[in-house]
Amino acid sequence: MPDLFVAGRWRSAAAGGTRDVVNPFDAEVFAVVDEAAAEDAEAAVLAARAAFDEGSWARAPVAERAALLDRVADLLQRDREEIARTETLDTGKTLAESRIDVDDVTAVFRYYAREGVVEVDRTVDVGRPEVVSRVVHHAVGVCTLIAPWNYPLLQMSWKVAPALVAGNTVVLKPSEVTPLTTVHLVRLLEEAGAPPGVVNLVLGAGGAVGPALTSHPAVDLVSFTGGLATGRAIAKAAAETVKRVTVELGGKNPNIVFADVDLDVAIDTALTGVFLHSGQVCSSGTRLIVEESIADELVAGVVERARRIRFGNGLEDGVESGPLVSAQHREKVEGYVALGQQEGARLLTGGRRPDDPVLQRGFFHEPTVFDDCDRGMRIVQEETFGPILTVERFRTEEEAVFLGNDTTYGLAGAVQTLDVERGERVAGALRHGTVWINDFGPYVPQAEWGGQRMSGNGRELGPAGLAEYRETKHVWRTTRPAAPGWFRG
Ligand code: NAD
Repeated sequence: MPDLFVAGRWRSAAAGGTRDVVNPFDAEVFAVVDEAAAEDAEAAVLAARAAFDEGSWARAPVAERAALLDRVADLLQRDREEIARTETLDTGKTLAESRIDVDDVTAVFRYYAREGVVEVDRTVDVGRPEVVSRVVHHAVGVCTLIAPWNYPLLQMSWKVAPALVAGNTVVLKPSEVTPLTTVHLVRLLEEAGAPPGVVNLVLGAGGAVGPALTSHPAVDLVSFTGGLATGRAIAKAAAETVKRVTVELGGKNPNIVFADVDLDVAIDTALTGVFLHSGQVCSSGTRLIVEESIADELVAGVVERARRIRFGNGLEDGVESGPLVSAQHREKVEGYVALGQQEGARLLTGGRRPDDPVLQRGFFHEPTVFDDCDRGMRIVQEETFGPILTVERFRTEEEAVFLGNDTTYGLAGAVQTLDVERGERVAGALRHGTVWINDFGPYVPQAEWGGQRMSGNGRELGPAGLAEYRETKHVWRTTRPAAPGWFRG
């Protein structure tokens, strides 16, 4: 069965390209998919354009589009186990995590089925009884939706659900590293009744299909989640035709811990915050900023727990963490470990591949903790996107806030303290898109997600995540037409 979906038909790449899909647990090729080139991407864009301009999707009652989202949510739950297994094979994450992902994706479709029908148009009182002035909203047009490999289906759902309920037509481009669950999602969208051309799917390398998807004049909006360098390139590519662009990029997320915490809770929170999914999380808490008086004890606890994390095949019960996504990504992480050592950070644990014979073929890397870090180090400032924790110490609240904001990114951060007022004060001062107090990681579809500063622009989830996919129009109607009479001649 071909894997590209254009104008309501499944097809192979025009030039016959294919790509191996690799299981990061054992480096085995477990699937082969069609690999698009620029011409396939252009065909998908033109199909989406035709469906938007000539089809009825954008003009259909919003309730019909919301109903499609609800049907997709039902189908996601019907196929929950199959999708979760595929996501685990593709990414290496544990099945428990993949199941949560499918449930979260379902919740996103359900949320936008409700949020999409909420009335946002309004009338404006312009102070003239003969004028009816309305602010109305409609779809933007053709949207290119590009997702990364760490949460392949989840990140795509944050885009596709609001885009569709708002009446747009879309071209989906998942990461070439993890394309399979997005193919499944498109099959579900087709089964749920998405009209031909409304949803199109392009699989392929970013460099090959990216220009057609991000600079083509027929595209109105690009929504991208991925790395900073790619985000910059996409923003530039889209600038020529002044498209709407949303970029959700990386992070270097502080976890600030004050001395008044319950130590065991703080250790567990720090551990989960940084080592979940082997640190391949945009909001991962890689920068531990801890009050000096408890630092040694807290760090010792994190190190001891990190050594006990059980690695293995994400499909097996009892496994707590999988591998990194690819050999190439592990090399990047290893490069950062070497850099940390060169920069003088003190390696407390990890920093290497595990010895376990079962893990030799996969792309595993031990959870790594560096102590004695300072803000001048690249390992403290750059996104490693791996299981690497850096530790810095502070003495005053002011210093903690300074370090928490001492990054060019601004995606997420956390403060752990039992002093309620201090927690609120610090949260208020942190310049990050999400701040957790006494927690690390949770998010809900109802609340906006996104970055400040170089973590991106625009928002996903919540009402703002829908507004990204709507145009705003002011309609002014004079009920008693009269000559303006400005010119006298
Ligand atoms: P990436 O930037 O390498 O790739 C992301 C996507 O962009 C892929 O689908 C890729 O094929 C595509 N792409 C690459 N070059 C392109 C081009 N020139 N034109 C168009 N598309 C192109 O990122 P990645 O390695 O897949 O993902 C990891 C990054 O994603 C990390 O930096 C992480 O922080 C970030 N991320 C951010 C969020 C968030 O919500 N802010 C969420 C998840 C991941």
